[in-house]
Amino acid sequence: MNKKTIIYPILTFISFASVYFLLSLKVTGTSSEEVLWKEEQVQRKVIVIDPGHGGNDPGSIGQKGTREKDITLKTAKNIQKRLEEEGMTVILTRPDDTFVSLKDRVAIAENKSADLFLSIHYDGFTTNDAKGVTTYYYKGEQALAETIHENLFKHIQAKNRGVKFGDYYVLRENQKPSILLELGYITNQEDEERMNSQEFQTNVTSGVVSGIIEYFKS
Ligand SMILES: [Zn+2]
Repeated sequence: MNKKTIIYPILTFISFASVYFLLSLKVTGTSSEEVLWKEEQVQRKVIVIDPGHGGNDPGSIGQKGTREKDITLKTAKNIQKRLEEEGMTVILTRPDDTFVSLKDRVAIAENKSADLFLSIHYDGFTTNDAKGVTTYYYKGEQALAETIHENLFKHIQAKNRGVKFGDYYVLRENQKPSILLELGYITNQEDEERMNSQEFQTNVTSGVVSGIIEYFKS
């Protein structure tokens, strides 16, 4: 056996080992860069939040006098504040108690190049026994709706009506990813009381914000 027959296998082993070592370093490097990259991507997102109703359209009205247009605006502003703290850009379709048409609401999502359009509503029904929280999507946004809904229910306690297909104008006519939240029935006493509590408002905000971040990072 000459020297070459021993040296070649050793050299081959060393070359493979070095390549493997360098590749493993590169993989580690990429994954931490990837985390940073994802966080930067999240901070670049533009979210349009759409508080339902407004102006001469009060939406549903509760037995205790809660008006849907007031509480949707309150929830929208809470979510806006927390998303801005996360570094995202947030635009409300109406910042105060004014009437904005459904067409104009959708146009804002388009004009502002929204990465997400989030419409906030509270339900109403002809009888007062209907209650609970529903997330609606139209066509291709079921996964987005499920992510937000699951995160929402990690933070709130209410009847879970699930994720459903909803043929709403602001979803159907929207070219941007969009969902619509119905965060309880104003016409149900228990739901009306809950939606007016600071605890529920804070928990809704936490659930929606963590859902949005999870959606953008996935
Ligand atoms: Zn509504």
